[in-house]
Formats: sequence, C-alpha cells, structure tokens
Amino acid sequence: MTKNNSSLSAKASARANSAKQNSPGKVWLSLNLIVLALFSLSLSNLVTLFALDNFKRQRENMVSEQIEKRGIKEKSVLQALRNVPRHLFVSEELQSLAYADRPLPIGYGQTISQPYIVALMTELLNLKQGNKVLEIGSGSGYQAAILSEITQEVYTIEIIEELGESAKKRLKDLGYQSIRCRIGDGYYGWEEYAPFDGIMVTAAATHIPPSLIRQLKKGGKMCIPVGDPFLTQNLILIEKDQEGNLKTKNILPVRFVPFVR
Ligand code: SAH
Repeated sequence: MTKNNSSLSAKASARANSAKQNSPGKVWLSLNLIVLALFSLSLSNLVTLFALDNFKRQRENMVSEQIEKRGIKEKSVLQALRNVPRHLFVSEELQSLAYADRPLPIGYGQTISQPYIVALMTELLNLKQGNKVLEIGSGSGYQAAILSEITQEVYTIEIIEELGESAKKRLKDLGYQSIRCRIGDGYYGWEEYAPFDGIMVTAAATHIPPSLIRQLKKGGKMCIPVGDPFLTQNLILIEKDQEGNLKTKNILPVRFVPFVR
C-alpha cells in the first residue's frame, strides 16, 4: 500500500512536472527567446551589411571624385579600384580613412600610396589580361591586388620581411591566390620570371636599377619614382621599344618612401 502510494505520488509529480514544462508561460518565454535571438542575429547581420555597403559607397565615391575627375579613363583600372576593398589593407583603426585622398601608414615607417597615384601608375603600364607584371615594394599588397584585377600574372617583392609576410597572407585570404610574393631586395628584379610586360616600383629610387631595365620586355613599360628619397621625386615612365631603345617621360612630381638597399 505504502509502495503503491509512493509510486502514485511519483507519477503525479512527474505529470505535474511535465505540465509545468509545457505550461503556456514556459512556451511563451522560449518563443520570446527565439524571437530575440533571431532579432539580434539579423541586427548584427544588418550592421555588417551596412558597414560593407558603407565601404562600397566610399569606394564608388573615391573612384568618381578622386580618380575619374583627375582624368583616369582606362575602364579596367577604374573597375579594379572599385573592386579591391582598400580598407582591408590598412589597420582597423585606419579603416575609416582608407578611401580618403591620401597615403596611409602601414607600419615599419612605410605607407600605402594615395588612391590616385595607384590608379595613375596602373594606367601608365597599359596592361592587358595575360601580361606579366612585376611590382617592387609590396607594402600592404594593395597595389598588387589592383594589378591582379587586370592580369593574373603578378609578381611582387618586398624587402621588409614582416610586411612581405603579412601582404602574402592578406592577399591569399582575400582570394588573390595567383599573386607571387617574395621577400628580398627588388633592385635585382626577379630573373626567374623575366621578361615583364610591366614593372612598377613603389619606392623612391636615386636611379633606375639596371636589372629592372634588362628585365623589361621589348614593348614593355616601367613606372618608377626617381629623385632624392627625402625630397620630392619625379614619377618616370620608361618605354622599351621593339628595338630595345628606351624612351623616358616625366609624368609628375611625387613623394614616395625611400627605395632601400
Ligand atoms: N605598393 C605598396 C606600398 C609601397 S610602400 C602598397 O600598395 O601598399 C614602399 C614599399 O617598398 C615599402 O614596403 C618598402 O619596404 C619597400 N621597399 C623599399 N625598398 C625596397 C627594395 N629594395 N626592394 C623591395 N621592396 C622595397
């Protein structure tokens, strides 16, 4: 009897428990929690989407206000600048300035060039899909990413190991897998892959490195800032004709970080 009573009361309490578990109040609370979770999830998605959209808008604005208005016309260059997320090539604290009309620090005393200079140098090389291009001074990797939006064959050399390694990782993470990165002194170019249709030097040199001239293809173009590394330099365009003769043209005064040896 006692046993039966206790088993009855156990059943009753189990029923009471299950009734408690399924009580309308409990269901209502879980529903509320689910709605709240969904809401905060979509809110955080919205915030992310808004931030992405905001950077995209800033990029469009950068291209129309800083690049097109200054006379850059080449469609592939404009498209490249629209595509590459420049804010992901600078530190988080500087992301809000990524699309401003200025260079920005990238650590180790180096800078990512002003967007207009990146566009101008890219346009000057007049690259087509399939051309081979060498960049000296990978820095953040931004210029290399821009070049690789135009042609798959991009080679870039950086002398500061930490910058070279982080540029390599960043480019890989962003899907620019075809870019070949190397740590070393770019003064000697990259013999193994020479000759190049285009060569771009993104640090100020006192003279044009002879190896780079040698590694330029006939019909190829090279763009390099030349002059006193601590004063203003001249951006020079060098064209090698089909006979191997060189023609140089002064483009405009610029200020780059020094080409080191
Ligand atoms: N193109 C880069 C910015 C370049 S700043 C970008 O898009 O972010 C210039 C870079 O040239 C610096 O990172 C500097 O370390 C590198 N540099 C200077 N002298 C070099 C040399 N001799 N060989 C290779 N890189 C060099």
